[in-house]
Amino acid sequence: MTHRFFINPNCITPPTIHIIGDTARQIKTVLRMQPGDRIIVLDNSGLERQVELTQVDKNSVQGHIIAEQVNTAEPALHLTLYQGTLKGSKFEWVLQKGTELGISCFAPTICQRSIVRDAGAVAKKMARWQQIIQEAAEQSGRGKLPTLSPACSLREALTHAQSAKHLLFPWEEATNTTLKQTLSNLDGSHLALFIGPEGGFSAEEVQLARAQNAKIVSLGPRILRAETAALAASAAIFYESEA
Ligand code: SAM
Repeated sequence: MTHRFFINPNCITPPTIHIIGDTARQIKTVLRMQPGDRIIVLDNSGLERQVELTQVDKNSVQGHIIAEQVNTAEPALHLTLYQGTLKGSKFEWVLQKGTELGISCFAPTICQRSIVRDAGAVAKKMARWQQIIQEAAEQSGRGKLPTLSPACSLREALTHAQSAKHLLFPWEEATNTTLKQTLSNLDGSHLALFIGPEGGFSAEEVQLARAQNAKIVSLGPRILRAETAALAASAAIFYESEA
């Protein structure tokens, strides 16, 4: 497998690339790569460039671009996940697996029953969460890095999501509409998916979502953990849109 790295576009001056800092150290020290080895570099434009390394030092790696192509792993569907904040590593798991599945934007959402309620505490995790997203995007062959929004309230999230073609709001007490029933006409559009925190959405929040044109849907008769629901719903959406 050819190692892939998202790098700053300033590191790319065709036909050469020059990488410094942590990524250079990873190439040299962790991966023990040498001149002649090949890597793929991405600048988050959707283009990916195959590079042959010409110089590999601890803080500086140089290479020569030998081919470039448009990445073909980005989904046509733009899915934003408004995920109720979760305790511990559960949110990180959603970031990693959601990136692999194709999610384009993650928005930590503070709900009435959120255990993690302090936006400042969430802000302190952003750098680590960005790193998790980048590593998952490199590992899964994504052509663009999913974005990570600052924490917001559910009300703010619903307002922000009005630009989406469909707002999907899974609620375990929804009885008359399934996710499948709402996934009929999914052209290459922008979808918003709302998943509650460990305690779920309150009835008031469900009403607010309804008032904001969200489709309240069931994910089936079993109660899924929040992190399971986020990935099960995302996988179903991508399957339906790409099948
Ligand atoms: N009230 C749940 C309980 O009693 O454990 C907690 C909610 S669940 C852990 C977290 C979120 O996952 C919910 O807010 C909802 O968005 C989603 N979810 C889980 N199971 C679901 C289902 N069967 N149908 C729709 N949404 C579901």
